[in-house]
Amino acid sequence: MILTDLRSDTVTRPTPEMLQAMFAAPVGDDVFGEDPTVNALEEKTASMFGLEAGLFCPSGTMTNQIAIKAHTEPLSEVICDYTAHIYQYEGGGIAANSGASVYLLHGERGKITPELIRGGIRPNNIHYPLSKLVALENTSNKGGGSYYTLPEITAITETCRQHNLALHLDGARVFNALVAANESALPYGACFDSISVCLSKGLGTPVGSVLLGSKPFIQKARRIRKVFGGGMRQAGYLAAAGIYALDNHINRLADDHAKARILAETLQSCSFVQEMQPVDTNIVIFRLVDAVTEEQFLRELATQNILALDFGPQTIRLVTHLDFTEAMLEHTVKVLKNLNF
Ligand SMILES: *Cc1c(COP(=O)(O)O)cnc(C)c1O
Repeated sequence: MILTDLRSDTVTRPTPEMLQAMFAAPVGDDVFGEDPTVNALEEKTASMFGLEAGLFCPSGTMTNQIAIKAHTEPLSEVICDYTAHIYQYEGGGIAANSGASVYLLHGERGKITPELIRGGIRPNNIHYPLSKLVALENTSNKGGGSYYTLPEITAITETCRQHNLALHLDGARVFNALVAANESALPYGACFDSISVCLSKGLGTPVGSVLLGSKPFIQKARRIRKVFGGGMRQAGYLAAAGIYALDNHINRLADDHAKARILAETLQSCSFVQEMQPVDTNIVIFRLVDAVTEEQFLRELATQNILALDFGPQTIRLVTHLDFTEAMLEHTVKVLKNLNF
């Protein structure tokens, strides 16, 4: 029986067509700025989002951490939701890499508002850190794939500009947000000072994220990437997968969202489910009833060759993706309906 892996949208393998594009890529030494495929990926991604320049990096953690370091200084502060990946899942990197502190907001399903941000801005007084940067996450991972619409983002941009705060987007799943909201990436450039886009999540490449911003910002980011050890040489083989994905794997994200909705509908009527989070994109999060532990649930699924993720006490996360086929969906729905504890 084939394995159905719903732990994350990072588990995908490159398609044969993507591999072909990778093998065919012209390459050079990117630390010298001489890899034509990396340059093409950086330019392509930047122009999609209406920004001047891009920087190809090994991971989304690196693009986020570079952006935070470029926007802040030691003794300054980053404002974000308490569920944010940059705070929860990047190993405390903000403190270690940037010497900055974090002001945590309690938004709704990972989403924050201008009001919440205004409440997080420190008074101009030597007792406090200097508020410097606001970071949004779209879609929100811990928020269960919730997303911002452009008008919501524009209101936040205005607040940040009024208070002289930079605005960064952790766009690990930004294309899921854009497809779900039926919006274009182009206006994002006018809203954010920097954007991190992951290629290795829903877009299905093996490696890489792109950081976007103005030319001077990316120049600064390029220096920081070198210090972080992220300067890669013939990275065009990896960048080619990104170009292929941007051309071919964005619109199909709607399939992942439809499959996630079917999983949610199935779970809704399962006796082992206590509570479902709303499902807006490709992430399904639910709470198990007290009588069933995460370990028990995951073990039962695994006997049917299905993998899911323990996402905290009594909480399970499923993520749909490129390699989650119709046949796997049918199998998963059948297994969930027949699970008994
Ligand atoms: C996956 C993810 C990242 C980056 O993760 P890497 O594994 O370092 O590429 C950043 N933000 C969010 C919200 C993510 O889900």
